[in-house]
Amino acid sequence: MGETVYLDYNATAPLRPAARDAMLRAMGQTGNASSIHGYGRAARADIERAREQVAALCGTVPAQVTFTSGATESNNAVLHVFRGERVLVSSIEHPSVLETAAACENGVEKIAVTGDGVIDVRAFDAMLRQGPPPALISIMLVNNETGVIQPVGDLARIARAIHPRVFIHTDAAQAAGRVAIDFGALQADYMSLSAHKIGGPQGVGALIAAPGARPARFLLGGGQEKRQRAGTENVAGIAGFGAAAEDALAKLDDYARLSDLRDRLEQSILQTEPRARVIGANAPRVANTSCIALPGLPAETQLMALDLAGVAVSSGSACSSGTVKASHVLQAMGLPAAIAGGALRVSSGWATMPGDIERFVAAWRAMHGRMKDRIAP
Ligand code: PMP
Repeated sequence: MGETVYLDYNATAPLRPAARDAMLRAMGQTGNASSIHGYGRAARADIERAREQVAALCGTVPAQVTFTSGATESNNAVLHVFRGERVLVSSIEHPSVLETAAACENGVEKIAVTGDGVIDVRAFDAMLRQGPPPALISIMLVNNETGVIQPVGDLARIARAIHPRVFIHTDAAQAAGRVAIDFGALQADYMSLSAHKIGGPQGVGALIAAPGARPARFLLGGGQEKRQRAGTENVAGIAGFGAAAEDALAKLDDYARLSDLRDRLEQSILQTEPRARVIGANAPRVANTSCIALPGLPAETQLMALDLAGVAVSSGSACSSGTVKASHVLQAMGLPAAIAGGALRVSSGWATMPGDIERFVAAWRAMHGRMKDRIAP
């Protein structure tokens, strides 16, 4: 977007050139991947190559990868399998988990998080010991608002020590391409992925399912995706997803450089304004996300000022129909309304340069200079 500094990768990342190339090539081809003629086989080859690329990104094998329309569909598909049963979900999940979980036995049973935004292990342990055995536990790998990483493998072990047969799902939409993922080590049965968070196209994702997982067949119809997900495949989208996954994996080490940029950004802000709060700063976080609050200064006011200054970031609050609601994530972390309502999310990624962070800091300082009298003491 022209001269605008784009720091909203957690909403969607710019398309990687490798993904664009793969999509353009696939869009130039005709062929339904279910057809047995040469055209069909070419489309099938694109899909199977992408399956290998996506499997490699998350340390699994192609047979465990089913392509979907995105992490929302993957999350819906998994939760749908367990409707009517006892399901525990973290209180900071994406709405596509939280809202779908409402159809489960007791509605949404939410696992508490600490003030740093990680699962509260004692509260989790207590939940596991009360009531009937849960059928499914859903805990995201990385939170979209704070970037905080959840110890999913450890939590899965804790849960299975008490309930050996419980199924585990993790939404890894914000983790893929940012931290190394080893699906086996996570001890999960299901994992959701989204292409556009890693620099692939929007409207494509995947559901990874371990061999012992119950089939998560959400869309019924044709026999596509080994009967796991009906519907003619989005060949170009899937090819773009695969290329983005391969590029993201090859550049995973490079991703760590973003943590230096993030630390510099946060230090600049805290030096300028000691009342600013970096949310989740004491927890393990991905390198690309900062959630920074100015207590008492509404996030939408900050967003608009930064937008006018040519910087695109997001708020830590969920925007729907033009109204800004307090973020359920920040509320679950126990943050007071003045902080939760004043939280900005700055998220970088593969194309972010040091100059982008410098421009953000300059714009933020100019905004702060004009508005600092409105910050709560
Ligand atoms: N889960 C998380 C953690 C997300 O951040 C998002 C995207 N905001 C989704 C799920 C939904 O992904 P998609 O856009 O692919 O449906």
